[in-house]
Amino acid sequence: MRSPRNSSLRLIRALPLALSLLAACSDKLPPLITLPQPPPRNVVFRRVAVLDVVSGTSRPGLDVLVTDARIAAIGAHGTLAVPSEAIEVDGSGATLLPGLVDTHGHVGNASTPAWAGEFPDPERNLQSYLYCGVTTVLDPADMASEAFERRGAVAAGKLPGPTIYAAGPMLTAPGGHPIPAIEALAPWWLRWYVKRDATRIVDSAQDARSTVTELADKAPDFIKLSVDSIPESAPRLRKELIGAVVDEAHSRGLRAVAHVGSYADAVDAGQAGIDAFMHMIYKEQISAAQAATIASFHVPMVATIGVFESYALMGERKREPTDLEMQTVPVAELAAFDSVPPGAVSGDFLRYFELLRSVRRQWHQNLSLLREGGVTILAGSDTQSGVFPGPGLHRELALLVETGMTPAQALRAATLEPARFLTRSDDPDFGTVAVGKRADLLLVEGNPAFNISALARIRAVMKNGVLLERHPVANP
Ligand SMILES: [Zn+2]
Repeated sequence: MRSPRNSSLRLIRALPLALSLLAACSDKLPPLITLPQPPPRNVVFRRVAVLDVVSGTSRPGLDVLVTDARIAAIGAHGTLAVPSEAIEVDGSGATLLPGLVDTHGHVGNASTPAWAGEFPDPERNLQSYLYCGVTTVLDPADMASEAFERRGAVAAGKLPGPTIYAAGPMLTAPGGHPIPAIEALAPWWLRWYVKRDATRIVDSAQDARSTVTELADKAPDFIKLSVDSIPESAPRLRKELIGAVVDEAHSRGLRAVAHVGSYADAVDAGQAGIDAFMHMIYKEQISAAQAATIASFHVPMVATIGVFESYALMGERKREPTDLEMQTVPVAELAAFDSVPPGAVSGDFLRYFELLRSVRRQWHQNLSLLREGGVTILAGSDTQSGVFPGPGLHRELALLVETGMTPAQALRAATLEPARFLTRSDDPDFGTVAVGKRADLLLVEGNPAFNISALARIRAVMKNGVLLERHPVANP
């Protein structure tokens, strides 16, 4: 734990303040990344293998010149005209690929278990994403409705972080997800505040219209709906209200994305015209015919296996940290997962986690059927307890490979495919390594299209043409 940094009294007094302000009052760890001052205009990667995420093949022995925020030239080693003051990065034995996209990243969440009572630190989360090579995030719901200000601060270069696409609060039924989870799992002093800011209640077509109208003023990248009962006893948005939200969003040129759990959730959301599913169908085993029905909606699905695994396995076995977790999270925080305090999870949530445990063996098959049926699977981590910003996406990609995706397919699900989805373009400005594209780049040892574990052996991360200075935490 990062010291008992806030007394309850202080927190009660501070409730009206923004979460990030509170986090700023606390003892800060040294930053995970810093930016060179001033950032050099030209950087050249020498002798790299450049990964083509479309074919999954890489071309070795190349130099890649970045000027300002763009890829300026790519050519055989030694053939490019490189400005003499350019910073050189040795790429021998390494692969250059596009920066990663986390299509389900909650920047405002804490990743320690709920019982640790850790306060979210969005600024550090942004650093952690970058440290791990994640240069774009779709944040589909924010605990404190600060997502839009944060998105603006990053875009203006005032706050280091991945490019953010934000939805703001989550639209849900009265008492619907995530309200029971906040009631059951968030610290008591935080519940009211989080419920008010993290959700918008929709109980009528009029609510649907007025809520979308209110949010539209903030230029959200997406409207997010909750279409799942968590726990099973909780209410869920009715189909006609899903339709009312989606219609209102579409009439304003906004896209709507849905949290779903069961096949029926996905069909209701799909028929209502939703633009993406933010989870796979994780509550039950589906058939090939059902997968074909999901595919008929022609919208992508973010798998998020890792977050459900994390809850299913909570307390079942020791949680082994990954190398990237050890580099970004103090060991004391990782150790908070070692035992579940008595009473930390109870009642309906205990049953919900049992449901996850009972169906988890079906998730791989569900994903295979969905992929074979033609559903585009995107990689997203769903940052929260047990899913750390950055390391969580690396875990997710390893899980996608376990479901039968090739490493190259998994990498495409975390680069070009989400870039196409986010930009509504077949030829997006990021997500590939090509001349003219935004220089969001990741340099790793070995070849991750051959072995996905190579992705975590990071030699360099570049965001908007700036080579980041990476500083791992001082863990033993
Ligand atoms: Zn989520």
